[in-house]
Amino acid sequence: MSKRLEGKTILITGASSGIGRSTAQEFARTSPNNLRLILTARRIDTLKEVAEDIKKEVGAGVKVLPVKLDVSNPEEVRSFVGNLPEEWRDIDVLVNNAGLVKGVAKAPEILEEDINVMFATNVTGLINMTQAILPIFKKKGESGAGDIINIGSIAGREPYPGGSIYCATKAAIRSFTDALRRELIATRIRVIEIDPGQVETEFSVVRFYGDKSKADAIYAGCEPLTPDDIAEVIVFTAGRRENVIVADTLIFPNHQA
Ligand code: NDP
Repeated sequence: MSKRLEGKTILITGASSGIGRSTAQEFARTSPNNLRLILTARRIDTLKEVAEDIKKEVGAGVKVLPVKLDVSNPEEVRSFVGNLPEEWRDIDVLVNNAGLVKGVAKAPEILEEDINVMFATNVTGLINMTQAILPIFKKKGESGAGDIINIGSIAGREPYPGGSIYCATKAAIRSFTDALRRELIATRIRVIEIDPGQVETEFSVVRFYGDKSKADAIYAGCEPLTPDDIAEVIVFTAGRRENVIVADTLIFPNHQA
């Protein structure tokens, strides 16, 4: 349990599965007595199930608000923030986790549609959310407060053949995060990046357009991380005292070269 997270309002994008879902559960377990979780993704029914699971596990001390939201749509993002009920507006932590990879192909063969959806979700979506939430953080206290936790990837540091666009989106997140941290250096707003290596989630199923057998083959002969491994790091990072920033974390399976 963490006293530091008590009373906080946490907003997580991409909370319907994988790392986002585990992160919501981990926040709830860590601070079960007084916490608000705003869970967003496009699949609202799945988000409602996540909310139910959390309620069953930790009880009524954690309030959960599931909201259907496509981060790649800037108008939807602005309207979501503008229409949040009063008691949900005082957001303290934004976890920019929504993201995807589509296809495995050499650069000249990547489908235009896949290029667009990866940039629109991973890069523009993350920026949309950040721009919408920053004004809330800037109004807190004398010099602002709040955490922006961006989920990048090892792929943003170590590009691999067949993944050029996905890697480029994650490298873009890295540059955006670094620049924003420097822009906000005089405030108490923490801008954080967490870069996972291989984690077993729906991520690979999305990569192979829903083909589960191809997705499963990715994990043959290796032991990927679990979404809980990443969730623990996210919650640990958010729970540091305010003068401490765990700014940049790379976390991957021990065997992953
Ligand atoms: P999942 O596919 O399990 O989760 C991705 C989440 O993003 C889902 O909840 C999905 O929800 C949401 N999402 C996708 N597009 C949008 C959109 N346009 N608007 C809102 N939500 C969206 O994968 P992971 O949990 O693995 O991925 C989470 C993050 O971790 C991603 O940023 C990914 O790049 C990163 N990552 C993953 C790694 C891995 O090996 N799994 C490694 C390194 C980084 P819905 O479909 O309901 O909208």
